[in-house]
Parts: sequence; C-alpha cells; structure tokens
Amino acid sequence: MEYLFNDWVYIDKKIRERRNIMLLCDYDGTLTPIVDRPELAVMSEGMHKALDRLVGRKQFILGVISGRALADIKERVNINGLIYAGNHGFEIEGPGLKFIHPLADELTSVLRLISQVLHKAFKNMRGVIVEDKGMTVSVHYRLVADAQLPEVHSKFESIVTGARAMGKIRTTDGKKVHEIRPAIAWDKGKAVNLIIEKYIPQQRRNNLLPVYIGDDRTDEDAFKVINQYGGISILVGREGQASVAKYYLNSPEEVGTLLVELYKIGLGG
Ligand SMILES: [Mg+2]
Repeated sequence: MEYLFNDWVYIDKKIRERRNIMLLCDYDGTLTPIVDRPELAVMSEGMHKALDRLVGRKQFILGVISGRALADIKERVNINGLIYAGNHGFEIEGPGLKFIHPLADELTSVLRLISQVLHKAFKNMRGVIVEDKGMTVSVHYRLVADAQLPEVHSKFESIVTGARAMGKIRTTDGKKVHEIRPAIAWDKGKAVNLIIEKYIPQQRRNNLLPVYIGDDRTDEDAFKVINQYGGISILVGREGQASVAKYYLNSPEEVGTLLVELYKIGLGG
C-alpha cells in the first residue's frame, strides 16, 4: 500500500487518460470523522461542497456506499445526482437506477425479531446502542466500559447464534460494532459490480476508471472488485495496515483534499 499523494503524478495522468471516472465512497470514517455515536457523523461543509462540485462535472460519476439505511445515507449526504447504496448495497438508488435485493425483504422479519430481543437485552446496559437499519441491525459498543465488553459480546452471541446457525443471518464485526445482516451472498464488492454493470453503458465502461475510498473491513470486498477493474482502491487508514487497497490516505480530511484535486483535474487545470 502506497501513500496516494506520493503517486500523484501517475494517478493524475491516469485520470486525464480516461473519459469517465466513477468515484464511490464509503461514508462513516471516510467522508466523516469517526464519532462516538453514529447519529453524530456529519460531513464537514468543505466535504459537502467538494462532493457537490464534483457531481457537476460531466467526467465524474459519484456514489456513496454505506452500511447505513438508504434513507439515512441519502438524508445525510443530501446531494442530487449521486448514486446511493444503503445497507452495504442491498438497496441502491441513483439517476435511472433502482435496486432492492429480492431476498432481502423476506429476511427482514427475522431481523425485526432479533432487533427487538437485542433492544430488550441491552436496555439497561450503559453505552450500548442498538441501531435498527431495516435490512441490517448494528450493535455499537464504542461507549461501553472495557470491563463490560465481555458481557456485551457474550450476550450478543447468545442472541444471534440460533438464527445464524439456521443460515438466516450473518454477523460481521466493524469498528466497535457488531453487525447483523441477512445471510445473502452480498457485500459492497457486489454492489460496486452491480453499479458498474447496470449503470455504466458498455461504451462508457471501456473508458472508465473506477475509484473507491473506504476505511473499514466491509470495504475490502469493494477494493477487490475495483482492483479487478484496474481501478484505484484507497484505504483511509495507516501505512502498513492489512488491506487489499493499493493506496492509503491518513484521514477524511485528506479525502477532502483528494476531492478538491480531482475537481481541478476536471477543470483541465
Ligand atoms: Mg466506514
């Protein structure tokens, strides 16, 4: 993994060579700083402006792919003309594109039930936030005291273990969060694939450079697909961190800097 701006001459050239740049970004920890409570994750004004300006450039196709519910991510980003993928891509919406995974609906009733049990189980436990996002459920424990963590993990395990064994759900671990989703072979990588195939006409695809920026484990699937397309995969993280991404940036602030630089290229500057 190389620091993105160390290789800027090469990337700048690559971008100028292609007529279409598809830039897909994760939201939390990529476009916003990581915060203690998910509802507080807000894009800076500068980030919002940088994204909004890029959407206006014909050369760029922009999208946000998040673990959040589609409605939530749309409201938070609040920019027209963007592709939005919610719940890791179970639901995707953009200009001329609408997709809901056919099996996801069926399994939401199972998730409702688990969500109710989790709410009850963690009601009296300080710092645990159970977030029901429709097609996925997250249990955040960033605010939980260290001594209580084993209890959080074992309670969580005992609640999800049955449904998981029956093949109804999958669980994954992110940054201080347990996540539950329907057991469908679906991830951010498949979402990226679907967006490219359904959204980009064949004649534009040949001239396409896909770029993906993300900070978490669920973004690794997207990096893999981007690499297969010969695109630019960027981890927001640390040098030497285990990732299949080809490049890294240190912070969401640097993502903002990248968006501004891309805009300048779009101007022919
Ligand atoms: Mg993230």
